[in-house]
Amino acid sequence: MATKSCLLLGMLALTCSLAVASDPSPLQDFCVSMPNSQVLVNGLACKDPKLAQADDFFFSGLDKQGNTSNPLGSKVTPVNVVQIPGLNTLGISMAHIDFAPYGLNPPHTHPRATEILTVLEGTLYVGFVTSNPDNRLITKVLQKGNVFVFPEGLIHFQRNAGYGKAVAIAALSSQNPGVITIANAVFGSNPPISHDVLAKAFQLDNKVVDYLQSIF
Ligand code: MN
Repeated sequence: MATKSCLLLGMLALTCSLAVASDPSPLQDFCVSMPNSQVLVNGLACKDPKLAQADDFFFSGLDKQGNTSNPLGSKVTPVNVVQIPGLNTLGISMAHIDFAPYGLNPPHTHPRATEILTVLEGTLYVGFVTSNPDNRLITKVLQKGNVFVFPEGLIHFQRNAGYGKAVAIAALSSQNPGVITIANAVFGSNPPISHDVLAKAFQLDNKVVDYLQSIF
């Protein structure tokens, strides 16, 4: 009997710990955010539900092509709680990604979300790297209609592997997934991370660190 109770408790604990691995579940139908609220909570404060309008749950223009005229040749158009206040507390969001020929969405992570990506147009070479100690690289070439998953928190990238443009839509398991672009965070932090730290961490000459910091 005692063993059974222990097992039950263990399973309950496991279920609970899994439940908090994504955005917390809402405790009401919706909580349209008030971005200018002075109240700080884990998420954003809700406006009076009686004042909610259809436009609080609406965004338009995701069919528009983003401007890929930049050194990476890619443009991410996010649609999260910032763009749709009604997404507050709902644990989900989207992004539209445009790629110029050979354009790159560079290695980055979403600290709060798993990403599931659909290719609408073109060919993408995508991948993610597992955590330490293996750091295994898992890659795939995706064609139109293919879907690929980037597990929460792992470093991942997408590169246009074709001659033409490419377009993808991503869904993310957080209202506010967050993005950490590795190169920008490490070599472009403000203020900069000290030379000693970066030179030793990446086994680089100080001059190379200088150069990388000047780019990012
Ligand atoms: Mn991503």
